[in-house]
Amino acid sequence: MSNETSNFGKSAIKELESTFNRCALCLTGANGMLHNCPILDHGERGGVLLEEAIDDHLVSSNFSRKHAENGIRLCPTCHLSWMTSIGILPALAFVPCAEISRYILRKLREDRDTTVDQILLDLENDGDPETVEARCFQDLYQLLPVPRSPTPNAIATSFFPDVVHYVSGRFRKGKSRKARSYRIFDDGKIPLQLKRKLGQITTAPISNVGVTEDGSKLYWHLPRRSFGAFLAVTIHFVAMVKLSMCESETYELIQYLHKAYRDAPESRQVGKKSKGKSGSSIQPKRRKKNEDGNGKGSKASGDGSGNGGANKAAGRKLTGRRRDASKSLKNSS
Ligand SMILES: [Zn+2]
Repeated sequence: MSNETSNFGKSAIKELESTFNRCALCLTGANGMLHNCPILDHGERGGVLLEEAIDDHLVSSNFSRKHAENGIRLCPTCHLSWMTSIGILPALAFVPCAEISRYILRKLREDRDTTVDQILLDLENDGDPETVEARCFQDLYQLLPVPRSPTPNAIATSFFPDVVHYVSGRFRKGKSRKARSYRIFDDGKIPLQLKRKLGQITTAPISNVGVTEDGSKLYWHLPRRSFGAFLAVTIHFVAMVKLSMCESETYELIQYLHKAYRDAPESRQVGKKSKGKSGSSIQPKRRKKNEDGNGKGSKASGDGSGNGGANKAAGRKLTGRRRDASKSLKNSS
């Protein structure tokens, strides 16, 4: 999430205001003032992020940062304290929930030329019976804490959602021993279902991020936003995503995106940003090694037949740009 001056078009602002009556994170009402927050910011850095997002097959090449799909609304506290990336890293980032991550990954493996955003646009028309779950979890996100940023232990909210559980394609009220349980922050459900109720959004320790004491997971409903843009922010700022920071499906998706669309030797430059701690973390500079030792990875890269070379060439070009981009970022900050 970024904190450059927002510069949305009139229709985008209208859409944002009608979609988000409350803060997308803590559900505080609009009595105060909600900020229109671009996911990929409208400044120079956002341009760099956009290039990366296009190269990494996250968004389409005609993605506009000024359109509503690139925005959410946040209260000033959530915006400036947790989701701001000017000067310092944002403390938290939205990433696709486990169920959607799994779906995106399956589709990317089937078609490496598509984009994350396109996959979710096509979800409605996907007749595959396996998509029932993905449809139910469409537009749901989890929170990921950014390492080495001032992540709070918890964020207080006055609108803590009730527990629901997932059974065969739909959410039902209450907790279930057999089924997965969730608390879903959903702006659209406030007037009817959600009364004022104090609660805490757990953000640390990182092994428990987004999980409440009763074991239910915290998810956020952010309708019609760009999953690809959110992923671009995460991949750019969180140089090392650890398995302990998010659900394994999301970890696997981010790992796949690193491997599939970034070229090994040049990505060392990207890897340098993250001084390596060992452990189960995604480090771009190790990519080559992983691919050599990982049967799955080499199989996936073999699928593209003729495309492999083109992708590699694109990767080289991309990382060259990345280098320039990070220089210009340093200069501008
Ligand atoms: Zn808030």
